[in-house]
Amino acid sequence: MPMPTITKINLPPVIIHSNPPPVTIVKPRPVAPILTWTSLNRWVAENQIGSLHRLTGGPVTSYSISSKNGVLVLGIGSREATWRGMEIHLGFAPEIIDDQVFIHGLDLQKNLEPLLLGEPLMFPGPHRVMVIDPGHGGIQSGTISVLDKRPEKEFTFDWARRLKPLLETNGWQVFLTRTSDADVSLSNRVAFAEAHRADLFVSLHFNSRAPDQKPVGLETFCLTPMGMPSTLTRGYPDILFQNFPNNNFDAQNLQLAAQLHRALLHATGLEDRGVSHARFIGVLRGQHRPAVLVEAGFLSNPREARRIEDPEFRQKLAEAVAEALK
Ligand SMILES: [Zn+2]
Repeated sequence: MPMPTITKINLPPVIIHSNPPPVTIVKPRPVAPILTWTSLNRWVAENQIGSLHRLTGGPVTSYSISSKNGVLVLGIGSREATWRGMEIHLGFAPEIIDDQVFIHGLDLQKNLEPLLLGEPLMFPGPHRVMVIDPGHGGIQSGTISVLDKRPEKEFTFDWARRLKPLLETNGWQVFLTRTSDADVSLSNRVAFAEAHRADLFVSLHFNSRAPDQKPVGLETFCLTPMGMPSTLTRGYPDILFQNFPNNNFDAQNLQLAAQLHRALLHATGLEDRGVSHARFIGVLRGQHRPAVLVEAGFLSNPREARRIEDPEFRQKLAEAVAEALK
């Protein structure tokens, strides 16, 4: 599980008023967010990427858009979109207004444009540096396997150790945030990436919903763009207009997440829980580089725990990540 950091947030004092009407003081926002809704037809025409096709037969009214990069399917009233066959969680559900599909400007800029119009992520050599972050360590053991209580930290470390030589073969210089069973703070993991001038940061985790044994699948996280609601908050406040250093890489974060997610789904056949946005993941927020966190299955599900405990599965995970970053 990703470890959240708890940020102290200075909320305005709560004023309990009696009869006089309350005075609302609107504070200026640090950067003007995009709050407009745009006609998807118009956007598609402006960007010359073919047309919008209405799909029939699904549970919700859906539309597909194709570009040279792939096909995106959107459902009206649904935040779940499909990109090249895998799930991408949008910030806002598309709507029909006056018989036209409207989409939120932030979804256009932060989700659709990087996927449909973005140039593929390039990793220029020969001094490209990757920091791999095996989740947890030391007394922070993460979650535990439902089968035999083996800790998550053991599996994330083994995955990272298998991944390092594969990436090196592909020309990456690779550093692990921990090379033993050590307790490394989240801020030190960010500082480590900074000190090594990392071009990319990938944090490796396994999930849990204990005591619920049902949830399964692969989920890949990147930081939520400013102004957009998160896919997952885990009970932490989701302050929409917080701006973090890693928000400078919103587009690349999503591209990296989609690239890794796709390769991992393909290699493992894990159920697709999608590419999600979250703000509570402390190891991503301060990164000055594209950064993502992968949760490769649930240690709280007996079937997936069995797979995660199998070294061959962890080798597959390593090979898939290396393949995605060739
Ligand atoms: Zn974890």
